[in-house]
Amino acid sequence: MATKGELLYEGKAKRLYHTTEAGLYWMEFKDDATAFDGAKKAVIPGKGYYNAQISAFLFELLSKKGIPSHFIAMVGEREMLVQAGEIIPVEVVVRNLAAGSMAKRLGLAEGTALKRPVTELYYKSDALHDPLVNEDHVAVLDLATAEEVAEMKEQALRVNGILSRFLERAGIVLVDFKLEFARSRGRVLLSDEISPDTCRFWDAQTGDRLDKDRFRRDLGGLTEAYNEVLRRLQRVAVE
Ligand code: UDP
Repeated sequence: MATKGELLYEGKAKRLYHTTEAGLYWMEFKDDATAFDGAKKAVIPGKGYYNAQISAFLFELLSKKGIPSHFIAMVGEREMLVQAGEIIPVEVVVRNLAAGSMAKRLGLAEGTALKRPVTELYYKSDALHDPLVNEDHVAVLDLATAEEVAEMKEQALRVNGILSRFLERAGIVLVDFKLEFARSRGRVLLSDEISPDTCRFWDAQTGDRLDKDRFRRDLGGLTEAYNEVLRRLQRVAVE
């Protein structure tokens, strides 16, 4: 059994550690919340726990549906063992309804249904504030190969189909989400987290925000909303 080793990297919401086994990392979810490029900060007790539990649940669901990820096992309430890899500095966003930056950029009302899912690529760079990029930008900046981009987009759309259908049964609309991938053992592997910090989840009945917009928009009740997401996921049987 791998045990936690030296800290490898500390991000805004997680810490990544080496382990006693080569090829395995230990990922710990923090209670820190940040938004608007770190301009807004808070500590929200319990957030790390919910994000870890929800990510584990969704990674397991995806694995059962044929999409592998870096997730191996929970090793604590907010800690997971993951497959080591090198993060590709391209964030893949998939959208089903216009919200957030897309609604603003294109002048669409939040909640406008898109006639098909839209994928977007962002260059993962704090210094540049994660700019929106296209495939030519990714190529000339050498962020990823064309094959990797095609693979990431294809996996992201498959993730969208699986999660949208599952969440619908939990009374949740999957509005949009962000994925990160790593290069691991010669392939592109779904990594990072899939949680209310990285997805927009709307209550199908009331339209209530069950995600990080509660923090970004000062709506309050963040841990209650994250708890509600976890509870609903656990109630829906995986088919
Ligand atoms: N997102 C994320 N990390 C980021 C940017 C976006 O997890 O650095 C997620 C966000 O939670 C939402 C989706 O990606 O589910 C699309 O975000 P958007 O571009 O609308 O950005 P925002 O409104 O957060 O500025």
